[in-house]
Amino acid sequence: MRLEGKSAIITGAGRGIGKEMALRFSAEGAAVVVTDIVGDLAVDVAAEITKRGGRAHAVTADVSDQTQVEALFDEANNFLDGRLDVLVNNAGIAHHAAFLELDVKDWQHVLNTNLTSVFLCTQQAGRIMVQYGGGSIINIGSISGQRGSTGRIAYGTAKAGIHQLTRILGVELGPMGIRVNAIAPGPIDTGMTKMGPDQRKRYLERLPIGRFGAAGDIAAIAVFLATEDASFMTGSIVNADGGFDAAGLIFDYDELVNVKSDGRDPDFKP
Ligand code: NAP
Repeated sequence: MRLEGKSAIITGAGRGIGKEMALRFSAEGAAVVVTDIVGDLAVDVAAEITKRGGRAHAVTADVSDQTQVEALFDEANNFLDGRLDVLVNNAGIAHHAAFLELDVKDWQHVLNTNLTSVFLCTQQAGRIMVQYGGGSIINIGSISGQRGSTGRIAYGTAKAGIHQLTRILGVELGPMGIRVNAIAPGPIDTGMTKMGPDQRKRYLERLPIGRFGAAGDIAAIAVFLATEDASFMTGSIVNADGGFDAAGLIFDYDELVNVKSDGRDPDFKP
């Protein structure tokens, strides 16, 4: 029960990584506001938590909309008696498109949903947390915010923005006791990662750990960042990506051992 007595708001918690975080936060003793743009899903997750003996409240909200974010925090405040220890900015949408074909409306939609939402929710949460001497804000970024790739101009730029927002707010809010950290997941098996067999195979070739991640891999780190065990961490981007960011070319280990490829090639002609 590492989060006993704590209160948390988790966005995009109706399914996927957010749902897993809501269940784990509750299992660790936190009261959880489960919020999602798909209200029915949030209600189901809150009901599951209540059935397991936890305390949860569902709120339907589009976190890219300022008015809805304000209403979300009003409702959360009522449920949590005005306190807030943890905010997880998890809500997001996937987006894959060729830059030269991309409509500016799609660009703005992805930036609003994946980045402006983090600004809006963090500002609301920060204003509450500062009254009680601090809290923990956890942003879900992405390895796409660290690496170049194809088709990720909007998504990757938004996620890179989350990482920089995390560093800047880690510094600005640190003296107020508010820690701000981000998790940068690699490919995680959720409804968001529908891909063809070739795409999946190419990902796997670049994952030293040899598998896609599970929602629980990310939830476990979020729980840690929410606890006092992480009290010396702020402004950090924690990669949870099976080694994707660290990996460049990965050679077969047998080839590494059996094929001599170091030193000068005497046959090389410029
Ligand atoms: P998911 O299963 O699609 O869950 C995301 C949830 O957020 C969905 O219920 C979604 O609703 C909701 N949402 C979308 N827009 C919203 C909005 N404006 N307001 C409130 N809720 C909204 O995706 P996931 O894989 O769990 O992803 C969670 C987070 O991890 C995202 O920020 C994602 O970018 C990040 N991430 C995921 C991966 C991965 O491989 N899965 C990798 C790196 C980072 P709808 O389904 O209706 O859109």
